[in-house]
Amino acid sequence: MSGIPSKKILSQPFTEAPVPPGLLSSIRWKRIWQALVDLVFPPRCAGCGRVDTDWCSSCQQQLDSIPLLPAIDHVPGLDGVASTAPHTGIARQAVHGLKYENALVLAGPLAQRLERQFHQTNWTIDMVVPVPLHPVRQHERGYNQAQYLAEGLALRLSLPCSPSTLSRERDTRSQVGLDAAQRRANVSGAFRCHSEYVSGRHVLLVDDVFTTGATLAACAEALFEAGAKAVYAITVTVAQ
Ligand SMILES: [Zn+2]
Repeated sequence: MSGIPSKKILSQPFTEAPVPPGLLSSIRWKRIWQALVDLVFPPRCAGCGRVDTDWCSSCQQQLDSIPLLPAIDHVPGLDGVASTAPHTGIARQAVHGLKYENALVLAGPLAQRLERQFHQTNWTIDMVVPVPLHPVRQHERGYNQAQYLAEGLALRLSLPCSPSTLSRERDTRSQVGLDAAQRRANVSGAFRCHSEYVSGRHVLLVDDVFTTGATLAACAEALFEAGAKAVYAITVTVAQ
């Protein structure tokens, strides 16, 4: 019985609302097109490759079973850093799915891990800010995975999330092959803060993977210049 009311609600726009004939035709074609795409390219679990789901219950159980980590000590430029899992196995696959395979459904389970990890800290936070992508890179990908994680976490913590607070002014994608000092120099000054709201606030940065902390430190640098009182960071995984 519980499924019937929701079906009624879902069907209302198409049976009762006066939908213009052109729009109705457009909606039908989109549905037919999506059905054809699913038939030819059925969704696959980002963890195990199982067909007909973006993320299966077995992979979710594996993700849930990974123990949370202690805080990452002494990252220069930040007041505290935490990460929920090593960048290996199912956690790595989940991050990869969210980042490169459009598996946006994974933002929910991963934000849930961020929330559990956050509750292990004693941080007091006023606002959540995702690490931004350079506009060219975001255009290529179509979305910023860190923004999905930040919005999911902020919702769970009942905190404001502000994706427009920081922008990436320089495209610093060529971090591979650089050591920690070179990475810091490469991203220093790459970010700009556009909000006076951060002044006097405790900010929580959110990103998918922690590598050397250079990117997070460069974001913190921009936030501190804008008057932030404290800057913490949390990521789904940590590369070791
Ligand atoms: Zn799976």
